[in-house]
Amino acid sequence: MPSSAVGNNRVYQDQDHENEVDDVAFLTGDREHQQAAANRAATYEKPIIASCTPKQAIIVLIVVIASSFLISIIIAFARPIGCQYPEFIPPPLPKGYRLRKPSANYLTTTGEAYPWKDIRLPKFIRPLKYRIQIRPNLTTRALKGQMGITFYVTEETNFIILHSRNLTINEYLLRDVRGKELTIRRSHECIELQQIYLETRGSLFPYQNYTLGIRFDGNLTESLEGVYMSKYTNSKNRTRFLAVTHFEPTYARAAFPCFDEPHLKAKFKISIIRHRDHFALSNMPLEKTEDVGFFLERGLLQDHFQETVQMSTYLVAFVVCDFSKITNKTSRGVSVSVYAPPDQITQASFALDVATKVMDFYEDFFGVPYPLPKLDLVAVPDFGAGAMENWGLVTYREAAILVDPEQTSTKSQQYVAIVIAHELAHQWFGNLVTMDWWNELWLNEGFASFLEYKAVNSIIGNWRMMDQFILEKTQTALALDELSTSHPVSVSVDDPSEIESIFDAISYNKGASILYMLEGVLGEEIFKQGLTNYLETNKYLNTVSDNFWECLSIAARNSSNDVHVKTIMDTWTQQMGFPLIYISRDEKIVHVKQEMFPSIFRNSNDPERPNSTWKVPVSFVTSIDPTREFHLWLNGSSVDFEVPDSVVWFKMNSKQSGFYRVMYEESLWAQLTDILLKNHTSLSAADRASLLDDAFTLNRVGILNVSTPLLMLKYLEKERDHVPWATALRHLNYLQQILSLRKAKENLVCFIQKLITPVYNELGWKLRTKHVEKLLQEEILSAAVKIGMVPAISQATKLFQQWRGAKTPISPDLREIVYSTGIRYGDKSDWDTTWKKLQESKISSEKRLLLKALGSAMDPWLIQRYLEFTLDQNKIRSQDIRTVVDSVAQNSPGNLLTWRFVKLNWNKLLNVEGGIHSIGPIVNAATSRMATNLELSEVEAFFSKADVGHGHRLLDQSLETIRNNIFWLEKSEDLLGNWIKSNTMC
Ligand SMILES: [Zn+2]
Repeated sequence: MPSSAVGNNRVYQDQDHENEVDDVAFLTGDREHQQAAANRAATYEKPIIASCTPKQAIIVLIVVIASSFLISIIIAFARPIGCQYPEFIPPPLPKGYRLRKPSANYLTTTGEAYPWKDIRLPKFIRPLKYRIQIRPNLTTRALKGQMGITFYVTEETNFIILHSRNLTINEYLLRDVRGKELTIRRSHECIELQQIYLETRGSLFPYQNYTLGIRFDGNLTESLEGVYMSKYTNSKNRTRFLAVTHFEPTYARAAFPCFDEPHLKAKFKISIIRHRDHFALSNMPLEKTEDVGFFLERGLLQDHFQETVQMSTYLVAFVVCDFSKITNKTSRGVSVSVYAPPDQITQASFALDVATKVMDFYEDFFGVPYPLPKLDLVAVPDFGAGAMENWGLVTYREAAILVDPEQTSTKSQQYVAIVIAHELAHQWFGNLVTMDWWNELWLNEGFASFLEYKAVNSIIGNWRMMDQFILEKTQTALALDELSTSHPVSVSVDDPSEIESIFDAISYNKGASILYMLEGVLGEEIFKQGLTNYLETNKYLNTVSDNFWECLSIAARNSSNDVHVKTIMDTWTQQMGFPLIYISRDEKIVHVKQEMFPSIFRNSNDPERPNSTWKVPVSFVTSIDPTREFHLWLNGSSVDFEVPDSVVWFKMNSKQSGFYRVMYEESLWAQLTDILLKNHTSLSAADRASLLDDAFTLNRVGILNVSTPLLMLKYLEKERDHVPWATALRHLNYLQQILSLRKAKENLVCFIQKLITPVYNELGWKLRTKHVEKLLQEEILSAAVKIGMVPAISQATKLFQQWRGAKTPISPDLREIVYSTGIRYGDKSDWDTTWKKLQESKISSEKRLLLKALGSAMDPWLIQRYLEFTLDQNKIRSQDIRTVVDSVAQNSPGNLLTWRFVKLNWNKLLNVEGGIHSIGPIVNAATSRMATNLELSEVEAFFSKADVGHGHRLLDQSLETIRNNIFWLEKSEDLLGNWIKSNTMC
């Protein structure tokens, strides 16, 4: 943070002096205890601290903080000149979206009308600094804290508003910069808005600092949000507890009252009181520890952490635990540590190695050094998301960070590397430069989801991550964005629960895909330069997408590549959906035309699905040199280009790097199919995958006859690459699911068996050494078992029985298949033994596999019992509910039971899973293979009565999926069955 900044014609200087106050006496809560503490303290010559009353304590705190800010008047919104806009201008609302009208009916906790009608805080408040002392009590589950917030206002006011959620405020004290107390005339809390309104007797004047002291109480929860408790069992079989925070998007306010909006950045000086059996971690390194046992309880210590840089509330974090750690240093000397329960610390080496290398990669790629002195990564036994990018203190669920080289599969190791790289990308993109408001979340998440692949690709080249990128990001995002119930990546959100609804595949995967496409247009060098410029000029500040586009445009201009990035990218971020590119050839001339990709149930009058166009960077390769890419712009509805006569065939959307689909005229499909069948390696693996993905999808929405993708599939007998196989199997798995009770299923299963037999025979069960070969083997063996290939099932069940008897350990890459097959074809005793092994396992990746495998049971009683376990947190941790339900829903008998279970336990699931956004994916898993009108009306009837809150989009997406399934069956089921019968002897 620069020591001076210019803004609004004033020059302000931060001259904050460190001046700590050890005013912790009141944190024990009861006066008797305070008196005892005071007496003890008097004996030990520390009377100043302990003899003060609670009110005095808070006054001391505030006076000191206020005086320390005597000259300091930082204006956070002063911005250096560069590629940015002077002021935040909200982007126009995407078409079809309305801003929620403020309700006039917000009430206070005492039932009066709440004076502020907006879910957003007043624009005139600017926090500067928080001093927070907090004690998470792991015995009583109480949370106690006191704090001083220094802030200023930009206009005269007699009220301020801040956020608070489930906290009891015991005392407020407001002082001006000279230490003079300002009377708070009234205070109100509004539960619905999660706000506190404080009205002062006199005015607060612009650009003067004030300090608000607050004492508060709350509780640690088990909801995996705010400050919560987690636990693990140590080697002595004792349960050990830890306190963890998770604040994104709006849970910092559940830990301490604050101005909880991402643009209200401030510095944080955090102190944590904890028992001496534990230690505390926070965003910054420890400054000092002091014994506070005299004043509080024996054995209590207080850790003071260095003051943070300017940052958003949602990135504040702390952990109180007794973990072990391993440490390394980046090449620039930043300390990187991984923390895990002592028994599991040996599984942290892979993460430490990846994190250290990824930090070096990002410092080089971004051209901006990591701004903090340390980075900690913590494996948390109970964690709702995959991980959280808290600045300097990244938290992960165990399976997303711990790797046992002997026991963790290749796929899981890759997942760990990806999650680490994702969170570390946020340390710059998100933490250093932050979105102004949550409607720009996609830029944070899209960017991290793109960079995670580039980073891992760079540090482990032979994993071929960029081919896998299309599989995991582009294809999944296209599949969701074709629904009429999708949404634009830039979407208006206000309410906290609405904010949570946009942490979805559109923000993450479509965001990542369109950035990948843009990098292709600009070239990596320009992209990097624009990014460095963006981070440099906006560091510690907040931005909107336009700031980023502007920096990229400048970088392009400096390289004589005049691309107006905003004009292009607005077409991809402000409207939902994506283009379908029609291609036809007239001798030398190729006609290119775009239309919005049609969703089956789109209502043409629907304002949310305007008939739009995109600025499409069209790429293609030709038969002359399939490794050479050509590019052209499709800016309007159509464009033509010329190819030499010698071009026999061409394939559009090279390597599926563009976020669109391609529909060729019939003869061109035939040519491309021919290439696949006769000489498939003349196209890259990504191009082969992209042809399959487009052909299947176009058939699904009724544009392409099913015979085209089916004929194409025949080339798979020769395919030995992971990405095309994974793409094909994803589509075939979908068809198997919706045909599971239909007559065409038999033909399809026979056809798939024929396709995979050659590659199954070649790969077999022998252990592979190459990374991508291992991934392919896992795909093929898993498919072989799923479609009932007898040799595959026998081998898997044989290995399962060997494992069950604890005789032979199974190779990590075969475990998922072996465990799930063993359970699927096993009995209750197999299930119970596996359950017992799950309880005993200390390997998080192993636990995850076992949790999934147990959902493969075919016995309805076992399935039902397993589903019911999810309602008992002693059996299934709440972080794992989704894994369990998802795996049960994947198998045929389990699917029906899952839907029944969801309906019967709707309210309980809403509670344990933390709301509709968490159970949306469960609903989707339970309904995604439904394909009859009867099922559709049953689901519709249930949702019409259930309380779905802001989750209507997720549920609408489930309903649309069922309608699409019905549509496909009516249109293509018979054609598919007949084609397979006539062309494959199945
Ligand atoms: Zn993220």
